[in-house]
Amino acid sequence: MIHPDEALKRVLEHAPTLGMERVPLSRAVERILAEDLFARYCLPPFDNSAMDGYAVRAQDLKDASRPNPVELTVREIVRAGASGRRELGPGEAARIMTGAPLPRGADSVVMQEMTSPGARGRVRIARTAEVGSHIRVRGEDVPVGGLLAQKGAMLRPYEIALLAAQGISKVAVIRRPRAAVLTTGDELVEHRRNPADGKIRDSNGPAILAALSRWNVRAAHLGIVRDDPKEIQSALASALSEADAVVVTGGVSVGDFDHTRAVFSRLGIREVFWAVAIKPGKPLLFGVREAPGAPPKLVFGLPGNPVAALVCLEEFIRPALEKLQGFSPGHQSYHLAGEAANDYPKPKDRRQYLFCRAQPGPSGYQLSIIRPQGSAMLGMAPRANALAVAPIGVSRVSRGDTLPFRWLK
Ligand code: AMP
Ligand code: MG
Repeated sequence: MIHPDEALKRVLEHAPTLGMERVPLSRAVERILAEDLFARYCLPPFDNSAMDGYAVRAQDLKDASRPNPVELTVREIVRAGASGRRELGPGEAARIMTGAPLPRGADSVVMQEMTSPGARGRVRIARTAEVGSHIRVRGEDVPVGGLLAQKGAMLRPYEIALLAAQGISKVAVIRRPRAAVLTTGDELVEHRRNPADGKIRDSNGPAILAALSRWNVRAAHLGIVRDDPKEIQSALASALSEADAVVVTGGVSVGDFDHTRAVFSRLGIREVFWAVAIKPGKPLLFGVREAPGAPPKLVFGLPGNPVAALVCLEEFIRPALEKLQGFSPGHQSYHLAGEAANDYPKPKDRRQYLFCRAQPGPSGYQLSIIRPQGSAMLGMAPRANALAVAPIGVSRVSRGDTLPFRWLK
């Protein structure tokens, strides 16, 4: 068994960053930018008002005070989207809306709340105005030529807004990985079917596809193959021709009909590790298929037990799939800490991932460790909202222990 940190390190070492593709801005969210983008236009593109109020000449209000208000003649109403402003003369104001272009001659905006109606349609203002206040100056946000977003940045709705404001409709991003999922096991039938005696429905296939679709991976399920080395080999060979990463479930342990490892080696997949010091998920298998002039293909063998399969998928495969897409690893880490609300025995030589119900308590999160739980027990999962980690080297979690955890999404 290798240490889980070492396992993850080796997975990431072998995961290349894929090439780029150009996609419409509407499909670019959560993607990694593959180029630096610079501003073609300044933002805002013209001086405009940051408030609903009155555009004024600050000079006209220099003596304004509560006992001595000034009244200005309102020449026009400038709405957002208006063009071709007339110039503001001395003693004049323009009613102006947020985002509307500032009339020439105006150098300050007074908030509507600071004004009152004056005589004959005029506006009364009982305080001075500072030059520039409530004005958004052309180019103050983004100058022409300024860096908008850097290569390697993840595009969030904020970047999408910025790029849209620049009229950028297509961007170069790291392409999405292609993954193939292969379910193995003599006992398995498609989940839509009724299993005959001794058979069960494939739950790993649908679960893995669901997870991959969340992670921006284009995944294809190659179906269910029997525990037959030839069948597994031919399905895996065709998976390798298409995909950047292949996920096989089942047959990675030491049973008489566990052929996945042997088939890996027959297909020239170099084994990087097999068996990790974790629970659940110990028999996790990882190999790479290298070919000259091409990025290595990542091949994972997940244990068949459904909970083990999904924990391994999240802990070891997700970071690799994210690295393929250009993400820097680590945003999946266990930032939170909670206090165990109950005891739980564990194997001393393994890191254990514990399904918990996390609830805020008076002194931080309380983690109720769900009992019973196990690698084949799917029924308990809906009660869990958190996955906690108990370290290698301890043979039990005791009530009151502090455990790192993350939300189970
Ligand atoms: P294996 O890893 O092939 O030894 O399988 C371990 C356990 O997981 C066995 O009880 C299998 O029946 C079960 N299993 C394997 N593959 C799946 C699957 N795709 N869906 C649900 N259970 C599975
Ligand atoms: Mg099996």
